[in-house]
Amino acid sequence: MERVALVRCLPCSSALCRTYLNSHSHACRRSSIPLLSLPRRRRSSRLLTYSSSPPYFRTSSNRFSSFSPRAVLSPSPSPSPPPSPGFPQVKDEVALKLGFQKVSEEFIPECKSKAVLFRHIKTGAQVMSVSNDDENKVFGIVFRTPPKDSTGIPHILEHSVLCGSRKYPLKEPFVELLKGSLHTFLNAFTYPDRTCYPVASTNTKDFYNLVDVYLDAVFFPRCVEDFQIFQQEGWHFELNDPSEDITYKGVVFNEMKGVYSQPDNILGRAAQQANTTYGVDSGGDPRVIPKLTFEEFKEFHRKYYHPSNSRIWFYGNDDPNERLRILSEYLDLFDSSLASDESRIEPQTLFSKPIRIVETYPAGEGGDLKKKHMVCLNWLLSDKPLDLETELTLGFLNHLLLGTPASPLRKILLESRLGDAIVGGGVEDELLQPQFSIGMKGVSEDDIQKVEELVTSTLRKLAEEGFDTDAIEASMNTIEFSLRENNTGSFPRGLSLMLQSIGKWIYDMDPFEPLKYEKPLQDLKSRIAKEGSKSVFSPLIEKFVLNNPHQVTVEMQPDPEKAARDEATEKQILQKVKASMTTEDLAELTQATQELRLKQETPDPPEALKTVPSLSLQDIPKEPIHVPSEVGNINGVKVLQHDLFTNDVLYTEIVFNMNSLKQELLPLVPLFCQSLLEMGTKDLTFVQLNQLIGRKTGGISVYPFTSSVRGKEDPCSHMVVRGKAMAGHIEDLYDLVNSILQDVQFSDQQRFKQFVSQSRARMENRLRGSGHGIAAARMDAKLNAAGWMSEKMGGLSYLEFLRTLEERVDEDWDDISSSLEEIRKSVFSKQGCLINVTADRKNLVNAEKVVSKFVDLLPTSSPVAKIAWNFRVPSANEAIVIPTQVNYVGKAANIYDAGYQLNGSAYVISKYISNTWLWDRVRVSGGAYGGFCDFDTHSGVFSFLSYRDPNLLKTLDVYDGTGDFLRELQIDDDTLTKAIIGTIGDVDAYQLPDAKGYSSMLRYLLGITEEERQRRREEILSTSLKDFKNFTDAMEAVKDKGVVVAVASPEDVDAANKDRPDFFQVNKAL
Ligand SMILES: [Zn+2]
Repeated sequence: MERVALVRCLPCSSALCRTYLNSHSHACRRSSIPLLSLPRRRRSSRLLTYSSSPPYFRTSSNRFSSFSPRAVLSPSPSPSPPPSPGFPQVKDEVALKLGFQKVSEEFIPECKSKAVLFRHIKTGAQVMSVSNDDENKVFGIVFRTPPKDSTGIPHILEHSVLCGSRKYPLKEPFVELLKGSLHTFLNAFTYPDRTCYPVASTNTKDFYNLVDVYLDAVFFPRCVEDFQIFQQEGWHFELNDPSEDITYKGVVFNEMKGVYSQPDNILGRAAQQANTTYGVDSGGDPRVIPKLTFEEFKEFHRKYYHPSNSRIWFYGNDDPNERLRILSEYLDLFDSSLASDESRIEPQTLFSKPIRIVETYPAGEGGDLKKKHMVCLNWLLSDKPLDLETELTLGFLNHLLLGTPASPLRKILLESRLGDAIVGGGVEDELLQPQFSIGMKGVSEDDIQKVEELVTSTLRKLAEEGFDTDAIEASMNTIEFSLRENNTGSFPRGLSLMLQSIGKWIYDMDPFEPLKYEKPLQDLKSRIAKEGSKSVFSPLIEKFVLNNPHQVTVEMQPDPEKAARDEATEKQILQKVKASMTTEDLAELTQATQELRLKQETPDPPEALKTVPSLSLQDIPKEPIHVPSEVGNINGVKVLQHDLFTNDVLYTEIVFNMNSLKQELLPLVPLFCQSLLEMGTKDLTFVQLNQLIGRKTGGISVYPFTSSVRGKEDPCSHMVVRGKAMAGHIEDLYDLVNSILQDVQFSDQQRFKQFVSQSRARMENRLRGSGHGIAAARMDAKLNAAGWMSEKMGGLSYLEFLRTLEERVDEDWDDISSSLEEIRKSVFSKQGCLINVTADRKNLVNAEKVVSKFVDLLPTSSPVAKIAWNFRVPSANEAIVIPTQVNYVGKAANIYDAGYQLNGSAYVISKYISNTWLWDRVRVSGGAYGGFCDFDTHSGVFSFLSYRDPNLLKTLDVYDGTGDFLRELQIDDDTLTKAIIGTIGDVDAYQLPDAKGYSSMLRYLLGITEEERQRRREEILSTSLKDFKNFTDAMEAVKDKGVVVAVASPEDVDAANKDRPDFFQVNKAL
């Protein structure tokens, strides 16, 4: 489904999951926040990205597929590497002694790995042991967990098993690992039919620590004995005083309320019409979650969290013998069970005729409701899983149809102007049966049928006429580049492979198959060459879509009263519950509420904390990770070169200073960037330009980057053009960048209009789904120039600008078009340009002449004149009101202004505050899905934020209590060491070579020297309790002078303003 499934992510990991998990799973926990390794990257499309390396080429369009050319890479005729030297092997007799039988083994050249499938003899547990030279080791254990109803059992269980276990009897070992390990990945996902627990680390000792905590958690969790864990993570009645109203609380309950506040999710859920497990929501429907009993919950764990029902994955350069040894300690404790038979996923038989579903979603009262309908067509493609070649061909077809702005289905839908933006994820093949979904949002009531007809008529036309050769070549190139570069960003490669393998393995198919793309790819290429693309793709469109009766059309209507009505229904239920209770019952419930809170707020005893294994400071390198970097000069332009092994890919960033841009042009910058890539030049239509990018490169993207610079008034603001290509196409890459910068014509009014409505729709979506990002941007805007700029290009101001612009495009097009031209003139010049190149020595040298030619073609202008911007936004507290059932609450202040001087200990302290004080109070006892703080060391802004939060003022009180928390804090050496190690884990976040080169460039732009990095590291390593105490004043400054911004429901804002008159200025945004 793209379905509802929906990505349930905490803010910090959301970016990752969205890209790599195809919105299938609920990734509930957080990855760490890298504070030092990278300056917070500001770009209009994602204001708060906490991934550990810059998300490569992430654009709004990549939602269509991981094959989006700009989301990914290009082709590589690179010679295949020599077969890897022998990796350590497990001898058969050793495996047998440990209780495992080797089932099969293969060397997989695509990932240069030796993979062995074992079976644990006693329980039948299956283990894939993958050995290679990747230091970023990955472990994962996956259970088939098909739910029977929408009570959210699998999801609540996923949260709960990480709340303490037999060997690790503390409240949340998971949080202890977040605090004190070097993990490069730590999270858990609930899919519609499986639950997945992955960890990763480059440090072997740390890796095995993580594995042991996870194994103990899934097999021996405390949550099956401890009702309070179920209450906390799932749901419970809360009653603080018998005179008050009863409310529902629970982390998953609130998380899912947030999910069900978003129209796209409701749409995805409605598309899942099935009488199998896929017909219910594994995440939990907030209306159904309170039906779940503790007994059912325990039974589900007993039945499905059993080795017989598990699939286990190990990957990396560690000793495969040790893997089996660790596993045998756990698996040997079990006998075999029937779980694996009982958890088998049954396929949905195909419908004999199409069906239609009409749903409503909570809408604001603003705007013309008639134009806010959505419609999506969904087809279940097959009654059984497809073979790999068909799947690959379908993936390819999907890219052809929707993968780039030039792809015909996407292009025709958007050009029709029947709606604002596209919904539906195209082909989804992560579940048992693949499906295809496509539709539009922002559709007028009267145009719904037109959208449906346009989808089918376009597909019919494409089936009849086929695709043009350039399009085929561009898609092929993009997909090949992506497969070969295998650039998973900050997501471990081994995890990406695991998820691919599991996608089949979980259905009892061959786990090796999905890792081997070379043969099906070559077969597909030769079929296209021999038979022509039409005879390859047309039958697929006909069979799977046009002649497929299993079609579910979902129509969504905006309902401005829905949010209030849902709220009222919930209240009514709760009133009935209260009415049915006796005085004794109420007293008992009040006491239970207090007991739960007391338990949540009582710290774990030191003995329990000590059980979680940790490294010692001796295990930590004393120096920061070194990235080779040379600063040179080519024909007057500064060039940074990073000599790193990149497997024959060249990565480049061409960066231009935006200092001389007029203030009023700022909000046009994101649309300017999009226009560069999607409008076409004098000689090429935008379709041809896009295809050329796809054929010759691994992708090009353009976006603004803005950050404060510590100690300076003026922000650092640049436009970044990012590209990559195989060594043989370096010249093509720079030629293409040159024509994008200089030849693109800003003349296509109709296309520009589409960009505006798409961006507006996207911003509205973000407001509902990532309100914390909008709140953070708004606070930053009130506090510094860089924040103000970013907000103009991606915050609430940007949304307001887009709304006005939408009206203006028709009347003022000449004006707008010349403003775009003016941006080009003020930004793109040789002065103020910097070029960054990451590749191996040979390709760096090869690139020099090409760069030199590129530089000579850049326009020269008079010395860049800096424009003074007048940037203040009113500093009042602000409530951004939207139709939602959960809030996002922020408070921030500049602590440098309050006299704080940067010391590396600040990284340790703010991480500690997030993982203890805020986690316990905002999430665990407050019931929010997340609460954290962030310190932007460049600007000095320290901000608190919550995510999907049932509270508002109460959360602010928690923030304000941070000073007292620090004042009273007692911390023993072990805890302190863990906090330091966890911080180093963030600082040393694992990066692929392109990310290393990119980070190094950002440090250069922001004036962060190697000496400073070394000094900060030493400060981190020597952090003491005294530093925590010294931080108290900074926290008091946030309390006293901080500005508050909340994205919240009208009811909660009203209540807050009643409680504290005129506290919030109200800004109705949706
Ligand atoms: Zn969750």
